[in-house]
Amino acid sequence: MERIYLDHASTTPLDSRVLETMLPYFTKVYGNADSPHQTGRRAMSGVDDARDTLARLINAKQSEIYFTSGGTESGNWAMLGGVRAKRKENRTRVIVSAIEHHAVLSSAQRLEQDGFEVVYLPVNDGGRVEPNELKALVNERTALVAVMSANNETGVLQPIEECCEIAHEQGALFFTDATQLAPYMPIDTKKWNADLIAFSAHKFYGPKGAGVLYIKSGTKAEKLISGGEQERGMRGGTLNVPSIVGLAKAYELNYAQMEQNGEKLCRLSKLLMQELAQMQGITRNGDSENALPSILNLRVEGVENTALLYNMDLQGVSIAVGSACSSASVKPSHVLTAMGLSEKAVKESVRLSLGKDNTEEEIIRVARIMREVVERLKKN
Ligand SMILES: *Cc1c(COP(=O)(O)O)cnc(C)c1O
Repeated sequence: MERIYLDHASTTPLDSRVLETMLPYFTKVYGNADSPHQTGRRAMSGVDDARDTLARLINAKQSEIYFTSGGTESGNWAMLGGVRAKRKENRTRVIVSAIEHHAVLSSAQRLEQDGFEVVYLPVNDGGRVEPNELKALVNERTALVAVMSANNETGVLQPIEECCEIAHEQGALFFTDATQLAPYMPIDTKKWNADLIAFSAHKFYGPKGAGVLYIKSGTKAEKLISGGEQERGMRGGTLNVPSIVGLAKAYELNYAQMEQNGEKLCRLSKLLMQELAQMQGITRNGDSENALPSILNLRVEGVENTALLYNMDLQGVSIAVGSACSSASVKPSHVLTAMGLSEKAVKESVRLSLGKDNTEEEIIRVARIMREVVERLKKN
């Protein structure tokens, strides 16, 4: 039996058309994109095309796009670079939502060690930030507000446009980590009006280790990685040409299929919920009215999530507990905790995240396996 992969929120398989596009840049077009000779210029032409494509699709200027090594670097850069640039204005307060990815939360902790005041914006029991609560926290000393576009554990969408407006009213920067949203909804920099936006290729069937930080023109952000004059002097290091080309291709292909994929994912998640509804004591975490169609965060009462994960794994199904980055240490999810779930409920919650290539047959099989595994674990 083929394995069934339901962990697309942690990564997705590379689209074969993306691989085809990348391959020549490992072999024939191997130049250093910053070399002035023809070998280099051919590589740079691939990068330029990638930047053009992305700029068009996210409604930005080419000069606002910076290629990075992924969502983590982009998040670090936005947080540290954005906040440090604001220190000159005597702004020392940083506001981050309590449910941010560790890339953002750990950057906030570093800023705290550097003497900045970090304030955590709570979420309601549906896992959503409330703009009114943000309003009460932002002041004229605020350097930056970070609220992710969609949460990677629950899929819950955040009111980023309202939060952005509140931040701007006080002259603070607004950063949104769009890494989890990017595969499912268009990024529109003009509509969002955010100063900094991060996303990563491997969440939309692109290569791992490739991401973008959008920096709105006129926004001052310090650089994180210094070196050569790459990326207009803002991010040193020889350009990862195959990955940059692959990122743009993956974004373009995924963008063209987004609506169709969304409809399919809605159908599949509904089917999965229906199939699981026959089970006792299963509930969905998070505001499902305002969520991505791809993520189901489920609590199964009386069953420990790690036991469920390993037993599902033995039956050929890949699911997740909390977020991948922290699952090795099995710390209770900070996202579910922030939503007010009890310690017990958090330890009984798993994440199933669907992808465009999952099928109805797979979903039905997963539900059957999960029902059997849960029944067995409850007996123990
Ligand atoms: C996956 C993810 C990241 C990290 O991106 P990498 O490219 O893996 O470093 C950051 N934020 C969110 C919301 C994510 O889902």
